[in-house]
Amino acid sequence: MSTALTPQPGIMDIALYQGGASQIEGRENPLKLSSNENPFATSPNAIAAIAKVTAEVHRYPSIDHLDLRAAIAEVHGLDPARLICGVGSDEILSLLAMAYAGPGDEVLYPEHGFSMYRIFALAAGATPVVAPEAGRRVDVDALIERITDATRLIYIANPANPTGTALDMAELTRLADAVPASCLLVLDGAYAEFFDGYDGGAALVSARDNVVMTRTFSKLYGLGGLRVGWGYAPQAVIDVLNRVRGPFNLSSVALAGAEAAVRDRAFVNMCLTENAEQRARLIGGLRQLGIGCDESQANFVLARFTDEDEAIKADAHLKAAGILVRLVKGYGFPDALRITVGRPEDVSRVLAALGSFGETT
Ligand code: PMP
Repeated sequence: MSTALTPQPGIMDIALYQGGASQIEGRENPLKLSSNENPFATSPNAIAAIAKVTAEVHRYPSIDHLDLRAAIAEVHGLDPARLICGVGSDEILSLLAMAYAGPGDEVLYPEHGFSMYRIFALAAGATPVVAPEAGRRVDVDALIERITDATRLIYIANPANPTGTALDMAELTRLADAVPASCLLVLDGAYAEFFDGYDGGAALVSARDNVVMTRTFSKLYGLGGLRVGWGYAPQAVIDVLNRVRGPFNLSSVALAGAEAAVRDRAFVNMCLTENAEQRARLIGGLRQLGIGCDESQANFVLARFTDEDEAIKADAHLKAAGILVRLVKGYGFPDALRITVGRPEDVSRVLAALGSFGETT
C-alpha cells in the first residue's frame, strides 16, 4: 500500500524567504541597504585570493578547512579544533537543529528572532516555541520561563536582527546559567563584531559544555556572495556536527576569499570605524526627523514610523529615490523599516529622502 509523500508537519505553512530583492523595478543600480551587507564591499586581498584560486577549481576543496580554521583561530584567539565552517552561518544553525532536535523536542527563540530559527526547527520535525520580548529587546526571563525538559536548542541573535539591540555579558551569563545540560544555547553572532567590546560569547563557549557561537563572513567581511560562516563549540558538539555536514561543503573559492578577508585587519578596522560613525549619524538624523529609532549595536537600524501605512509609504518614497531598504513586517514590526548603515554619502541620501518624505506627509 502506498501513502502520500508528506513533508514534516508545519513545513507547508512556511512562506518562502522574502529577503533577497536587489532591484527596484525601472531603476538601474539602486542603493541597496536592505540586507546588512558591507557598503565598502570586500577586502581587496580577498578579491585577489579568489582570483588566484580560480585557476585550480578542477580540484575538490579542502575537506577539513584547516587553513581557514587556523586563520580564524589566530585572529580570535580560539582553539582551531573547536571550530567548524559552513555555507553561511545558516548552515551551522541548521546542522545544530538537524543533529540535536527532532519530533517531540522544542526549539526556543525570542519573538523577533531571525526567521530561519522557526524553519530549522520545523525542518527537523521539532516544535518551535517563541518567548516574548520586552521593549524590542530579548527578554532573558521570558526565555528562561519557557525552558522545559523538551527544550533542546535555544537560538538568540546578539546583537539581534532586526532590532539591533544586544544583551550584555551579565545577561547572557544569567541565561547560560539557566540552560539545562540537555539543551544547547546557540549565540548567533552574525552581527557580533559591530557590538563594541563583545567577543560573540566566545568566553562563555570556552567555559561551558552546552553553549555554541556562530559567526558569518556575510556582513562585516563583505562576502555574502561566497556564503561562509563558522561556529565555535564544545569539542563534543563539533564532533557531532562534522558527522552530519557535507564533506566538501565550502568551495575552494569561498575558503580562499574568507581566509584572506579574516587576515585583512586594516580593511576590517576601517569598516568598523566607519560603521560606528555612520550609525550614530543615521540614528541622530532619523530622530531629528521625528522617526523612532533605538540605539543599535549592529550595522543596521530599525526606523519606526507611526503605523504600517506610514512605513509602506516611506518604503515607496525611498524606492522612488533609488534606495532599497527592508520592510520588516515578517519579523513582527509592520510599522518599521530596517536600514543598513551605509557609507557617509549613503547615509546623507537616506536622510535627505526621508526628509523630503516628511514634507509630503
Ligand atoms: N543570523 C542572523 C541574525 C542574520 O541576520 C543572518 C543573515 N540575515 C544570518 C544569521 C545568516 O547569515 P549567513 O548565512 O549569511 O551567515
